[in-house]
Amino acid sequence: MGKLDHKVAIITGAAQGIGAATAQLFIKEGAFVVLTDVQDDKGKALAKSLGDKAIYMHHDVSIRKDWEHVLKETEKLFGPVSILINNAGIVIQKSLEEYTDEDFHKLYMINQFGVYLGMMVTYPSMEKVGRGAIVNISSTSGFRGKAGLMGYNASKFAVRGMTKSAALDFASKNIRVNSVHPGFINTPMTLDHISDEYKEKAMKDTPLGRGGEPEEVAQMILFLSCDDSSFSTGSEFITDGGRLA
Ligand code: NAP
Repeated sequence: MGKLDHKVAIITGAAQGIGAATAQLFIKEGAFVVLTDVQDDKGKALAKSLGDKAIYMHHDVSIRKDWEHVLKETEKLFGPVSILINNAGIVIQKSLEEYTDEDFHKLYMINQFGVYLGMMVTYPSMEKVGRGAIVNISSTSGFRGKAGLMGYNASKFAVRGMTKSAALDFASKNIRVNSVHPGFINTPMTLDHISDEYKEKAMKDTPLGRGGEPEEVAQMILFLSCDDSSFSTGSEFITDGGRLA
């Protein structure tokens, strides 16, 4: 028996990295999984490799119409949703002098507004099931500032705060909402968008002395999505190799 048998889950940003590892684990645990992303070729190929209980849908998390489409198609295919993983995100690392208003706005729209839309559009589906679990992916950057990451920091602090108010708003609907705070994880995001200097500093700053693997974060997301965490809501769950200790 899997920990997510008969559950329907939407995972955003699932074509690669933490989202992809989570989709793979959720399939192993028996869920029906809707993988969404803007990287269509990668997302389709991954969903195909996961079998009949997985499907890929194109989805820009900053657009309400995309969310409504994903939810409608998910309900048609698999039934109402009981798990939402708000994972899609971007990072922009720039010095203050290079930073633009457009950078800040883009980070806000994807990392923060996208998480808000996800919760607002999907909770009525969870009400049909009578329960739900929402996991919002923040970061250690939701706890402390980092130079060069002003917009990213703002969005990840916001995700942490929104998680708490949503948990209070949704508690009476039996929907739990928690945030996950990864440290430095080896994914395309950190490989492609983070400077070597920052990576070196992050390794020195991590007591376990290495970057985490996406599969290690996926285990935390699974915990918060299944009944193992049935009494946890509105809380922060850190998976960072000791970086914030
Ligand atoms: P990743 O490897 O870049 O994967 C994220 C996926 O989301 C990518 O496929 C990305 O596509 C997609 N995406 C970007 N904008 C989107 C949009 N508007 N709508 C839908 N999908 C979109 O990132 P990751 O490292 O797995 O990170 C996943 C989450 O964990 C993010 O929220 C990130 O902030 C958080 N996190 C990561 C780390 C880390 O060290 N990796 C640490 C702390 C927190 P593109 O590649 O085309 O942008």
